Amino acid sequence: MTEFVCLVCGRSLPHGDLQTCPSCGPAGILDVRYDYDAAARTLTRDALVARPANHWRYRELLPIRPDVVVPPLHVGWTPVHEAPRLAAWAGVARLFLKDDGRNPTASFKDRASSLGVLKALEFGYDTIACASTGNAASSLAGLAASVGLRAMIFVPARAPEPKVTQLLVFGATVFRVKGTYEDAFDLCRASCERFHWYNRNSGTNPFLVEGKKTVAFEVCEQLGFRAPDRVFVPVGDGCIMSGTYKGFAEFARLGFTEKVPTLVGVQAEGLSPVKSAFERGCEMEPCRGRTCADSIAVGHPRNWRKALKGVRASGGLMMSVSDDEILAAIPELARATGVFG
Ligand SMILES: *Cc1c(COP(=O)(O)O)cnc(C)c1O
Ligand SMILES: [Zn+2]
Repeated sequence: MTEFVCLVCGRSLPHGDLQTCPSCGPAGILDVRYDYDAAARTLTRDALVARPANHWRYRELLPIRPDVVVPPLHVGWTPVHEAPRLAAWAGVARLFLKDDGRNPTASFKDRASSLGVLKALEFGYDTIACASTGNAASSLAGLAASVGLRAMIFVPARAPEPKVTQLLVFGATVFRVKGTYEDAFDLCRASCERFHWYNRNSGTNPFLVEGKKTVAFEVCEQLGFRAPDRVFVPVGDGCIMSGTYKGFAEFARLGFTEKVPTLVGVQAEGLSPVKSAFERGCEMEPCRGRTCADSIAVGHPRNWRKALKGVRASGGLMMSVSDDEILAAIPELARATGVFG
């Protein structure tokens, strides 16, 4: 890692314990930059053959020290399943599912949390916190337990009971906030400043996107160092989309693949501020709304700028689906593929 660059003012900042750009405030999302020539010297196809089947195999492109001890849980290298019956149904030649439910706490968020806990340890914290509608919280609670950090979790009042139970089982301290995810987010940020806790908030912490981008590296490797034509990504805060674009772009830059796929971001119709910003071509306006898809129910996404940069650079687009379509898709996917999403 060489530096941070602010996506709003373009300023370069040295590597350190920063969440957002000091001049631009919370809107100043930072992007982590690397020395790609140095990375390319050791990150080669031959080297990858001998590396462990988890996402630390891409350590040259992660913001970690070469000698760092990584968490003992198995994060990443989740299966890519070919889904021929779903492909026939969708009218495409080939279709694949990346099953990130197979991570240690059963979601994609483990890619980000695994980076979050390492950075908290590196910066000398004993406590890490996040605000979450569910999966980020379970993930942080599990990963924190794996390295012996204390976890403080802020959940909105309507957080599903089973997910709260999971947090308590992992030993996290849970604050059920009377309000929305946005209220929980603000309270988490204020508490981190006040009590010196490390903030693992997907929207703003610059290191989490770096963990999420490993999904793109894996997809390329698992398809024989080829990038797919099109990739569909669910969008809440926009962190998965930002990471997915960055991963595909970096693999193309290192010459592992020939192109960056067209990225399609998917939001829930009831709450789609990133899609609206994409279509209007202007700043994102926070909104209120409802969807049954609690993991992407984000009215004030923090990483929309980085996400839309990726969607646009890939020649992609944003779309939305109704709650009826989301609910119908769960059994359709399960029955056509055997994957229960
Ligand atoms: C967090 C989450 C998302 C959205 O990711 P963002 O980085 O917030 O855009 C989508 N699906 C599931 C299951 C999630 O847990
Ligand atoms: Zn800035």
